[in-house]
Amino acid sequence: MNKQQLKGLAGKILRVNLTTGSIVVEDSDPYLFRYFLGGRGVGAAILYKELAPGIDPLGPDNKLVFTVGPLEGTMAPGANKMSVSFKSPATNSICWSLAGGHIAPELKFAGYDGIIIEGKSPKPVYLWINDDKVEIKDALAYWGQETHQSEDAIRAEIKEPLSKVMVIGPAGENQVTFACIQADHFREFGRGGGGAVMGSKNLKGIAVRGHGCIEVHDGEKLEELTRNVNEILAKHPKANARKAFGTNEMIDGINALGFWSTRNFQEGSFDGVDKINTASYKNETVFSDVSCYGCSIACGKNARNKKNPYFSAAVEGPEFETTGLLGPNCGIDSWNYILKATEICDKYGMDTISAGAVVALGMELYEKGIIDKVTTDGLDLKFGNGEALVQTLENIAFRRGFGDILANGTKTVGEKYDALAYAPQVKGLEFATYDPRGAKGMGLTYAVSSKGAHHMTSPTMGVEIGNNNRFSEEGKGALVAETQKYMAIVDSMAVCASMRFALSLNQQMRLFEAVTGVALSDEEGMQIGENILTLERLFNDREGFTRKDDNLPTRFTEETMTSGASAGQKVNLNPMLDEYYQVMGYDKDGKPSKSKIPYFA
Ligand code: SF4
Repeated sequence: MNKQQLKGLAGKILRVNLTTGSIVVEDSDPYLFRYFLGGRGVGAAILYKELAPGIDPLGPDNKLVFTVGPLEGTMAPGANKMSVSFKSPATNSICWSLAGGHIAPELKFAGYDGIIIEGKSPKPVYLWINDDKVEIKDALAYWGQETHQSEDAIRAEIKEPLSKVMVIGPAGENQVTFACIQADHFREFGRGGGGAVMGSKNLKGIAVRGHGCIEVHDGEKLEELTRNVNEILAKHPKANARKAFGTNEMIDGINALGFWSTRNFQEGSFDGVDKINTASYKNETVFSDVSCYGCSIACGKNARNKKNPYFSAAVEGPEFETTGLLGPNCGIDSWNYILKATEICDKYGMDTISAGAVVALGMELYEKGIIDKVTTDGLDLKFGNGEALVQTLENIAFRRGFGDILANGTKTVGEKYDALAYAPQVKGLEFATYDPRGAKGMGLTYAVSSKGAHHMTSPTMGVEIGNNNRFSEEGKGALVAETQKYMAIVDSMAVCASMRFALSLNQQMRLFEAVTGVALSDEEGMQIGENILTLERLFNDREGFTRKDDNLPTRFTEETMTSGASAGQKVNLNPMLDEYYQVMGYDKDGKPSKSKIPYFA
């Protein structure tokens, strides 16, 4: 197989070594894309092949592997995701994170299917990819700047207003373990600390401008499939809810079902929800829609508080998870402070989910009297104190005082204060906003994900609610396994997860065929999904991860929910874990067989 036999690829991968300053252009390996599709899958394969076990995630031996897929830059619906894979400083496991917007197609137009960043620069730099001209440029002037400021400054310096730029903020420079990489101002590679890895390499940003185009195998078929998906999306109630309210369309439902993270997951429904419900989000904050490349949903929302100019925070979103973690999970019932806290995370470059989770843990420690104002730098860190939330987030980004402790994430904080039982994390990655006691499949999802407690590795809650079996553990091992495989395909096709409302597995395989010319059956697609999961687990296996790491804090396995529509529930994890391992073909300790992966066989 060669590039001509796999259309859709740009054909090159950039390898940049920041220690030596070398920039090498390599041919994309078509087999890598045949067996792992693109995005997350190809990133996992490159990391597995190239990263030695046991390396320091914040040392020069770690790599940042940015990957797209054959669909990026074509008209395929929602094909706009770029993935970055790395060993996470939060978890020491494999990690990947995806951002939408417009930077992924731009990289393809510039002629590349990926960028591999190695080593560590002796001084702050940024990378400027201008078609086939690639330079490492001085970024000393931008080091210390906020994300939006440095993105605009880099764009101005290269004199390319249409370039797409991703940067880190002060949190990445200060190696906050949940620092993110920010692209197109508001699109984040959010989870797992990719921003900290970038900061450890003294890499402030990457700017991209491309003028090429992508050759596809069957343009007419691609157009037909795309039209079909967009017609389904136009009528789909969930897609239309996203169009109207963004992901905050979920607020009312998840709160009513009693599994919305509230006060560090002590409760599952929020008494202040009427002030921050779905309608109030739209009425009080949203003033326009935003779309990523090639998307007909446009779930992005430009938001600011329309009533209160003092709180002039202007953000895109916040996403439902952000609302949950920076809102109810911190006891906050005001869009003023949710927007302000989101803005702080955006401009300093922090994952809003982990940031909200670690502040909420601090709040519970403070209310329990385990820490006091001496520890919190004088802040009255009670649930509901919006000013304390905002100030603490600033302190985290700059590693000031108590912020320096929180900047290492909930697992480290839990260990320090003997509070691991209620530090909401798995493997060191914080829970998303769904309390697993209200949808047991989400408990297994958090537990077995190779990157830690990330909801989008297998978002089973919709199926569980639809099947009216969200409180049952039965069959959840199989449900999570199937959903994980499907999501591994979605992430590796590098299409937006919201496309799944209309994009069946078969349609994804047909899109892949129309673009690349490679026909894959649904079974072959699911096998690829399984292979990607296995590869990620093998990466963790050689880092020493075992069944004991596929676990949940005892708050969720031993304490029942005390109020709301999920009252009386706790998670019985072990039967689900046994079923999951059995379905995936892993042994009792969760160890897979290496022989299952053709590319590495
Ligand atoms: S649904 Fe939202 S996140 Fe997904 S591609 Fe469209 S605008 Fe972007």
